[in-house]
Amino acid sequence: MGLEEKIPSGVLLTSVEKLVNWTRKSSLWPATFGLACCAIEMMASGAGRYDLARFGMEVFRASPRQADLMIVAGRVSQKMAPVLRQIYDQMPEPRWVLSMGVCASSGGMFNNYAIVQGVDHIVPVDMYLPGCPPRPEMLMDAILKLHHKIQHEPLGPKRAAALAAARTDGTAK
Ligand code: SF4
Repeated sequence: MGLEEKIPSGVLLTSVEKLVNWTRKSSLWPATFGLACCAIEMMASGAGRYDLARFGMEVFRASPRQADLMIVAGRVSQKMAPVLRQIYDQMPEPRWVLSMGVCASSGGMFNNYAIVQGVDHIVPVDMYLPGCPPRPEMLMDAILKLHHKIQHEPLGPKRAAALAAARTDGTAK
């Protein structure tokens, strides 16, 4: 029996959750992964003017094994979909996905056979960001909203159950 089952709503578990989630949200490391024009705005967000490093995100990791945030920046082609899924699978848990821009979220203007009509057909999405392209301020706003979500996530098996429930009710696929 795990710790969480032994003290389901104890003060200790609540405090540990808060502390762990605070450390997780304070050191999100995005995978270096851009797909189209939205990636230009993502790169601008990491540069000196907008300075994502303020939020503990100073390193975009070239290896998915060292990343816990995938920012899907741009339209996802059918050919790219299995690669995207492979990168996601190589990221260790816990991991989060931010769908940046209308193309990544829904296919956008590219309603055709070559483009995936929403990256949530490939990976579960934690945060959707509209816009074409979203400006760096919008990306930072989405990241801060994701921080808020991470801060209030349950830990361990409860997180897995919450993810499964979200997939069932259609908020993530
Ligand atoms: Fe490019 Fe706009 Fe699509 Fe982003 S949302 S990938 S800027 S067309």
